[in-house]
Amino acid sequence: MRRKMAAGNWKMNGTAAQLAEIDTLVSQHARSSVDIVICPPFPLIAAAMARCADSAVSVGAQDCHTQPSGAHTGDTSAPMLADAGARYVITGHSERRQDHDERDDDIRAKTRAAWGSNLTAILCIGESAAERKADNTLDIIAGQLSGSVPDNSTAANLVIAYEPIWAIGTGLVPTPEQIGEVHDFIRARLCRRFGQEIGDGIRLLYGGSVNASNASRIFAIANVDGALVGGASLKAEDFSPIITALDAGTA
Ligand code: PEP
Repeated sequence: MRRKMAAGNWKMNGTAAQLAEIDTLVSQHARSSVDIVICPPFPLIAAAMARCADSAVSVGAQDCHTQPSGAHTGDTSAPMLADAGARYVITGHSERRQDHDERDDDIRAKTRAAWGSNLTAILCIGESAAERKADNTLDIIAGQLSGSVPDNSTAANLVIAYEPIWAIGTGLVPTPEQIGEVHDFIRARLCRRFGQEIGDGIRLLYGGSVNASNASRIFAIANVDGALVGGASLKAEDFSPIITALDAGTA
């Protein structure tokens, strides 16, 4: 049985006042049976961690450098994230791929760096609108999986988030058949590469315009083990029903 996960990516949003949303999640989901992860901007990680110590909520970061330290102005390393209390780090988000020209080999190196500090990577893959239109989705996913997922992946060190780029922040959501097809494909690829036990254990999240109204429908799809949520994770009143929908599916 894979443990479900609801991860919130706050992106470049939030100052200290935003941490009150974590307090609400901590109190509303004290008995949750799913892993709840909030990934705030770097400056809020330590304070977020202090708010959710000994609760069902954990903290993740949105990126890390490939190196543990050095002359890399403006970057943050995996050991720094772990030191601040993070347990997870998102790697390969499409906004990093686009805004910072991150390629599969960068993402593979960042994921390895995360593991070096005992962080679990939430590694994002997904096709663009043009790639889907050209019927290339599964080829793109296959290439991203082989290029960005390191050897030695396990259920403990890796979570994969399938995030079609055209669905992020747009309100557009693939059909259940489209999500199911990609998730089944990812699962099969992981099993082929890492063996049945590891492949079956790695959690697969769906991400892209998940909200309170569509969450249950998405969570009912086979091989969807939860969600990576952007916009709807910023307010506890929006994120909480998504967590509840995931929890209900585990009951
Ligand atoms: C994301 O950026 O990872 C994401 C899924 O965003 P949204 O939920 O806003 O589409």
